[in-house]
Amino acid sequence: MDVEKTELVEKTDAEWCAQLTPEQYQVMRKHGTERAFTGTYVDNHADGTYTCAGCGAPLFDSETKFESHSGWPSFFAPRPDAPVGETKDGSWLMVRTEVHCARCGAHLGHVFDDGPAPTGQRFCINSVSLNFVPEDDATSATPPTSDPSA
Ligand SMILES: [Zn+2]
Repeated sequence: MDVEKTELVEKTDAEWCAQLTPEQYQVMRKHGTERAFTGTYVDNHADGTYTCAGCGAPLFDSETKFESHSGWPSFFAPRPDAPVGETKDGSWLMVRTEVHCARCGAHLGHVFDDGPAPTGQRFCINSVSLNFVPEDDATSATPPTSDPSA
């Protein structure tokens, strides 16, 4: 999708280095890949939204997450409003399609065309590039059962 210029998050390398953990920096800014089955969200089955760890943009919904057994969180589609950009990546022997956050430029992972219905796509995403927001936290209308400040 097109992202308004004013919405773009542009930071210097030094600023990203300060904001991110070393592993996040390596993956998101240097196109690294976390080791398979080590990511926080590989086996996360809770309902909620996965946001960009760099800028907080909502990227994937838990409803689109599926078991790919690849060792990385996998989704068959980004959210309809997600700023997910794709770039052909020929850095390996085969050409892969790199996926990034179009808002802050963070590398997320890769997309393959061997995913399940309805899209047939498999977004293979590094856990460190994502933050998970549980559905309960997003429902601010529900007051907490016990208020510690009361
Ligand atoms: Zn982002």
